[in-house]
Order: sequence, then C-alpha cells, then structure tokens
Amino acid sequence: ERGRLQRLLHTPAVTMDDQRVQLLANIEMPEDAQVALKAGALGVGLFRSEFLFMGRQGRLPDEEEQYQAYKKAVEGMQGLPVTIRTVDVGADKPLDASVRDDAHLNPALGLRAIRWSLADPGMFLTQLRAILRAAAHGKVRLLIPMLAHASEIRQTIAHIEKARAQLDRRGVAYGPIQLGAMIEIPAAALSLRLFLKYFDFLSIGTNDLIQYTLAIDRADESVAHLYDPMHPAVLRLVADTIAECRVQGKDVSVCGEMAGDVTMTRLLLGLGLRSFSMHPAQILAVKQEILRADAGKLEAWAQGVCDAEEPGEELSSRPMPL
Ligand code: PEP
Ligand code: MG
Repeated sequence: ERGRLQRLLHTPAVTMDDQRVQLLANIEMPEDAQVALKAGALGVGLFRSEFLFMGRQGRLPDEEEQYQAYKKAVEGMQGLPVTIRTVDVGADKPLDASVRDDAHLNPALGLRAIRWSLADPGMFLTQLRAILRAAAHGKVRLLIPMLAHASEIRQTIAHIEKARAQLDRRGVAYGPIQLGAMIEIPAAALSLRLFLKYFDFLSIGTNDLIQYTLAIDRADESVAHLYDPMHPAVLRLVADTIAECRVQGKDVSVCGEMAGDVTMTRLLLGLGLRSFSMHPAQILAVKQEILRADAGKLEAWAQGVCDAEEPGEELSSRPMPL
C-alpha cells in the first residue's frame, strides 16, 4: 500500500471534476520542512512554533534564535508558503512538562495561546519581529491561535504594527506577510464576519474546536468516547466557516487531525474545502481519496450527512457518491 501511494507523490491533487486541492503539512521543527517536501506538501499549513519554546526550563528563545529557526523552515520549503503560528503554550502543551500547572484550575480555559502572548508583550513582540524578518526570505503567513474577542484581534494587529516599527527603527529588513486566524473556539466560528474583516485567511483547528464545542477535555481519557469529530454541532461550525470564506473569497483550510483523516476527506470536499493541512505521513493517502472523488457530486451528500441526527452513522451507511 505504501509503495502504491508513493507513486502519487508528484501527481497533482485534483478531483475527477477538476477541482484543485492544496495539501499542506503540519510541522513542529524547522527540520521538518524537509519531511514535508519529501511527502509532497505544497507548503506548510501549520508550523507549531511552541515546540521552539517548550522544555527549556523557562529560558525562552530570543529574537535571533527564533529568526534563524523560522528562516530555516522558510528556506527549507524552497519558495512554497509557510504558515507560522505564534506560540500556543498552556493546557496540553505546557512550557515545562516537569512543572505541574497547579496554579490554574482549568488550563484549557486559561492563559494559553494568544492570551499568553498578549499577557507578555515583550515576548510576543520578540516573536513577531523574528517572524517578520523570516518573511524576507520567502512566503510567510502569520497565524494567530485561540482568538475569540474583537479586542484581542485589535491588540494583536497593533502588536504586529509595533513590531514592524521597531524593525524600521533598527533598520532591519523584513518581508510582507498574510495574516490569518485559527478558528478553534466556537465563539470565533460564530463571529465569522468579524474575523473576515481583519484576516486574509482562516484555518480551522478542529482539535480544539471539538474540545470547546462539546466541553470534552481533549487530553482526558475518561471522556475520550465523547470526543466526536462527527457531532452535528461541530460539523455545522466547520461547514459554516468554509462556506463564509468561500462567499468572501478568502482562503480557508482545516489544520486539525480531521484534515488528515481519510474517512473525512470526501465530507470536507463536499463542504467546499480545498485546502487541507496535516501530518506529512497522511498526505498521499488523502491525495488518493481526492483523486477518486467528484467534488460536485459530494455537495448535496455532505449537507445531508451534516444535517443527520448521527452524522457518524450516516457517513458509514449512506452510499457515498464517487
Ligand atoms: C487544533 O486545535 O486543531 C490545532 C490544529 O491546533 P493544536 O492541535 O496545536 O491545538
Ligand atoms: Mg488548537
């Protein structure tokens, strides 16, 4: 099977009805860019920058170290776009795994991701400067995690402008970026007009969107059976986000585990998704599903699945159009 899939490496990801689909990689370290390219990715849809910050006993990477890391990823992708997400520490990604986070009652609802960045402007500005500088070496898309409030969006944009002004004052070169937001809190998925007013692209983080929609801790084994990507409420938020982006002509991708799950590929295609970001090891298997699919025929079917009482059962029982 692996050998058969390997033959698809250079085959463009196009459906039977000529819909071109963008298959991107999720990476954790700059070296992973090589892996992404070898796997046939047409870019990085999610660089989880927090991995540069974790397990360092509190000594965070400075601007130069971060710049070198982002530049390495950007150069590694040889002109293809690289989506760098600002740090998402907290909850399931503690800065230092040896220190238990007893200070916070419920870290998943606490000071994580953009909240953590906005709480420490010096640290946030350092990261933004490093990313802006890396953008001088290739196509960089800056992605902000866990936004929910208009005030957080405005503060984030103000910090980006301040980071640029700081580089201008130092006479340091930087490049243009596209700015995107993760849609991973239900409040964000229900505020699409706000998000599309400020952002060039959206990326749906289904891992957290499922967690927050269903109130199921994604790291808690005792409720893992209720962590259901096929819950109708989850699918509705995903479907609406894709549809609104398409209406407004904005890029949208899914970068949670759902994007690399071959049993979900046709459903997402039917909902109009044309950009998937996943673990590099999944790219060829997802591509195979795309090559066999007729996106037009999947549209009505996908809506039917979403509207079902038990979409999971619907997906396995209802005959799927080619
Ligand atoms: C997500 O929440 O779906 C996502 C891609 O981000 P992470 O898994 O890093 O929280
Ligand atoms: Mg997330």
